[in-house]
Amino acid sequence: MGINQVRIIDEFTKLVSIDSPSYAERQMGDYVKNKLHSLGVMVIEDDAGEQIGGNCGNIYGYLNGDSNKKALLFCAHLDTVEPSRGKAAVISDDGSIRSCGDTVLGADDLTGVAAIIEALTVIKEQNLPHGPIEVLFTVAEEVYCKGSQVFDFAKVMSEEAYVLDLMGLVGTAAYSAPSILSFTVTVHGKASHAGFAPQKGIHAIAVAADAISMMPMGRIDEETSMNIGMISGGLGTNIVPDMCVVKGEVRSLNHEKAKKQAELIRKQFERSSSAAHATFDFDLFTASIAYETPLEHPVLSRFENACNMLRLPVAIVKTFGGSDNNIIAQNGIAGIVVANAMNRIHACDEFTTVEEIIRIADLTLTLMTMDE
Ligand SMILES: [Zn+2]
Repeated sequence: MGINQVRIIDEFTKLVSIDSPSYAERQMGDYVKNKLHSLGVMVIEDDAGEQIGGNCGNIYGYLNGDSNKKALLFCAHLDTVEPSRGKAAVISDDGSIRSCGDTVLGADDLTGVAAIIEALTVIKEQNLPHGPIEVLFTVAEEVYCKGSQVFDFAKVMSEEAYVLDLMGLVGTAAYSAPSILSFTVTVHGKASHAGFAPQKGIHAIAVAADAISMMPMGRIDEETSMNIGMISGGLGTNIVPDMCVVKGEVRSLNHEKAKKQAELIRKQFERSSSAAHATFDFDLFTASIAYETPLEHPVLSRFENACNMLRLPVAIVKTFGGSDNNIIAQNGIAGIVVANAMNRIHACDEFTTVEEIIRIADLTLTLMTMDE
């Protein structure tokens, strides 16, 4: 029993060569659908594409297995962040794999896709025993899990999920992830000539600056952070700016804390605006909701046992990043996010290694086939 090392690296290289930016995963979707079909997996594509304005739906696969064993869900996302068009995997002698330098590599999350495909291939090739296996390849994960948000989880029978979408050494898994609330504040002031009649204007940028200067920024407490990441406004150096748009986010492993922090931000904009006779709009968007999978849940013991079998050091962590597992948790399925051989993600120097790709494929295969 084992992974075919040449085949999985070829598979990963092939996946990287397919353009698959968020909302334009069509080609990738067709490719993995064919793969799953050829492995005897029943495949359904949902209508997420139409619902979210993309050209491909979520790809759900079901492989029948021994019904005395628990059904398990394996999930990875098909989309990659920009710059992503024309990606190619360049393998060095030391086993590291990088892009050509002007795009991301797409190890996030194609190492996960490749590992799941390779594990299923080995199962079929060697006729290995397994329970029912469900696969979910989502679209538009990188834009706040738009694909998984519209997936119908009622068709999922698994009560345990492994989401391959985490940085760190293979053997690492996250059981807790934050709520992410993103906000846009639009401060409305009043334009006026900056030289002739500045006193007749209401300075929207100054109002925003005042509000921001009164806020704690960065780490709020050990489970909460806040950031203002974008600011824009003003039309010319000789005009009192009548509008300023401020965008930011709050994250917390505690959903109530995240909401409370967002409310404090809104209140500060209210104070600063009213002091200057400005008005403001505050739009809050819940990008993800925090979860914590119980440490004693079988999804974690299975993971730890599988790592032990492969002699991988185990690290169970909390993450400050969102993933499809936030949506899976909201749907009542206990999941963990599993490190899948990706590093420096969302940057052109993103990389993976041959060794780690083989490890995550091995781990995925072990999770799919081990005895309870
Ligand atoms: Zn990812």
